[in-house]
Amino acid sequence: MAWFKKDKKPIEPPADKSRVPEGLWVKCPSCSEIIYNKDLVASQHVCTKCAHHFRLSATERLKTVFDGEWQAYDTGLTSIDPLSFTDTRPYSQRLATSISATGLQDAVITATGTVQGLRCSVAAMEYGFIGGSMGVVVGEKITRAIERALVERMPVIIISCSGGARMMEGALSLMQMAKISAALARLDRARLPYVSVLTDPTTGGVTASFAMLGDVNIAEPKALIGFAGPRVIEQTIRQKLPDGFQRSEFLMEHGMLDVVVDRREMKDVIARFLRFAGARKAATVPGALAATASAAARTPGAEPAG
Ligand SMILES: [Zn+2]
Repeated sequence: MAWFKKDKKPIEPPADKSRVPEGLWVKCPSCSEIIYNKDLVASQHVCTKCAHHFRLSATERLKTVFDGEWQAYDTGLTSIDPLSFTDTRPYSQRLATSISATGLQDAVITATGTVQGLRCSVAAMEYGFIGGSMGVVVGEKITRAIERALVERMPVIIISCSGGARMMEGALSLMQMAKISAALARLDRARLPYVSVLTDPTTGGVTASFAMLGDVNIAEPKALIGFAGPRVIEQTIRQKLPDGFQRSEFLMEHGMLDVVVDRREMKDVIARFLRFAGARKAATVPGALAATASAAARTPGAEPAG
């Protein structure tokens, strides 16, 4: 016989678990600080206490770089699953899921706009789309972004956030490394600057091609940057890897990167480098030109003064 017996039923929890709306507060994975979501957006998704850099979507990323509006290109390009590839799930299914989750057709947004008044061609990768992996579409869009820069004579900025080449497209995805690198070589011969921004994570075929080819290679703090993962390397060389291996600061110390920059200062640093590399604001602003033309049309026969 038990000494104590519960006669009453335990108090039931209230039906609605929480009256706090979801997504209002975010917990920093690094310092466990609870941050108000609006504060986090205001600080460009950098923890206000410990400067942990949260991952950005491609659209959020473009907002931190461009002065205002931008024009996106090739938004309709999508992969056709050339190998009819299936691993744990068919590739076509993965594509459909990613398209509906991100609202993008593939893992990169390419756009033109101004960065502190300097007109640039920018590509930002979307990690939410199959790990930001580089397939045929990503390769084609980035190549076109570089060719656009060649035609208009403007600088190129590529912001990497990728797990590497997309294995579901096999050798076709590996060819993109050569294709983009060849386009960048043409950009170099045309004496146009290319800034590579490496964010967490930048690995595999992306590190092994365009991400490391910048005239200046800039990384965000503590970003994972490497080719193969640490476990594979440890197994291959049979040695324990040092602390902080494959993080921005470690790579910077060993001469793989030019500079590690806090996201909140990234735009300033990029613009300063572009001006140093010879980029200039356009002499005539298209908007002002159109305004002058319409003013002239309103006053027929008017002669320009001076
Ligand atoms: Zn923090």
